[in-house]
Order: sequence, then C-alpha cells, then structure tokens
Amino acid sequence: MSIQFYIDEVPDIVIYLETRLNFCNVNYKCLTYTPIIVGKECVPYTNYNEQGIVTIYLSKDICIGDRVGDAVLQISHEIIHCIRPPKAYAGTNVLEEGLATWFAYEYTRHRFAGTNYGNNLKPSDKSNYLCAFDLYEKLIEVFPDCVKHILHDNPNLVIKDIKSKHFEEVFNKHRGGFKDEYKAMINALILDFIY
Ligand SMILES: [Zn+2]
Repeated sequence: MSIQFYIDEVPDIVIYLETRLNFCNVNYKCLTYTPIIVGKECVPYTNYNEQGIVTIYLSKDICIGDRVGDAVLQISHEIIHCIRPPKAYAGTNVLEEGLATWFAYEYTRHRFAGTNYGNNLKPSDKSNYLCAFDLYEKLIEVFPDCVKHILHDNPNLVIKDIKSKHFEEVFNKHRGGFKDEYKAMINALILDFIY
C-alpha cells in the first residue's frame, strides 16, 4: 500500500478517537508520517521534537504488500501518543501504552468490522503491552472517561506524568470518591512502561 493510503487513514482514526472517546487534544495537525526503517529496528514508534512536530514511524514491513489491517493497528496505537505530545520523548507509562493498545484494537475492530480481520482481532501476545491493555480495561470498567477527565482538568499534563493524585481528584469529582480497592490498579498504571 502507498504511503498516501496510510496517511488518508489518519483523519478517520482521529475523528473516531475524538467522537467515541471525547479526546480533543489530539495533535494530528502536526502529524507527519514516514514509514522508514530506523537502524535495525523495525518497530513502530512516535517521535516528538521541540517544535511540536509529531512523526509516526510505522514498521517497514507494513509497507510491503497488502497489510492494511496491521498498518491501521499500528497507526491507531501511535495516534494515542499524539494526544498532547511531550516536547521530547521521555518514555511512557503503563497507562499510556495500555490506552494505546486498547484503542488500537477498539478502532481496528471497528474499521474492519464484519471482515475476518476485524472479527478475529484480539491481543494475543504475552508482552507488557498485553498487561498494560488488561490494566486499562480494568480502569475503564470502573471509570470509562477517567483519562479524559484527568487531561481536561489538567491542561498542561501529559499522560506519562499522570500520578495517583490525579486519579483521586477525578474519582472524587465524578465518581463520588476514591476507593482503596483501586489503589493497586492505579499504582500499576502509573509505573514507567518497560518495553
Ligand atoms: Zn506505544
């Protein structure tokens, strides 16, 4: 598939993110997209610079042949890293990778609904991404719009800097209080993500 084909997917992903999840901080106007191989690495990632330019790099293998499903899965994961992007990359936390992994499956299932690809799609690997995904699902079971509220109430906060006090604030404000039973989940979500 051509680069342009993938670029054309981005606005639909952002619209879905903004309408379904109500995130309105997606910095997609500054998003460019360059599917290149970086060193020996062939993993997708998102790069930030001080001018606020966010570049999503897809893995090179995705650009060979007809792998639209895998490409959409990668783009929709990386687009989460474009929600209020930091000026420089400083790692992510479990929350951000969990949200990104969760959204990638959510969007890709929607995008390919009714096809074999969409119907069979679920996280299958045993990596830290799957652990992060499971934790994020636990969070949205008790508070679906939790991250949205935290970002809304803290206009300069990036996702990786969310701490337990931010969770406690929005639980108190919108969920009638923060329960002790949430503590272990929140503490796991705010850890640095280990790749
Ligand atoms: Zn990620």
